[in-house]
Amino acid sequence: MKAFRCGDVVPGCNREFLGVDRADILAQVAAHAREDHHVDVDDALVRAVEANLHDEV
Ligand SMILES: [Zn+2]
Repeated sequence: MKAFRCGDVVPGCNREFLGVDRADILAQVAAHAREDHHVDVDDALVRAVEANLHDEV
């Protein structure tokens, strides 16, 4: 499992995501980014998410 904390990229956001792999996390983050941060996912955001992915056991 992979985990991502939005607050690592967007200070003040406490949303956390759990996914089976990178693609799963990115799909969830893309929806959250659009709905809650009103931004579209671009290459920079994908890299920011990947840089902050954690392995979750
Ligand atoms: Zn967020």
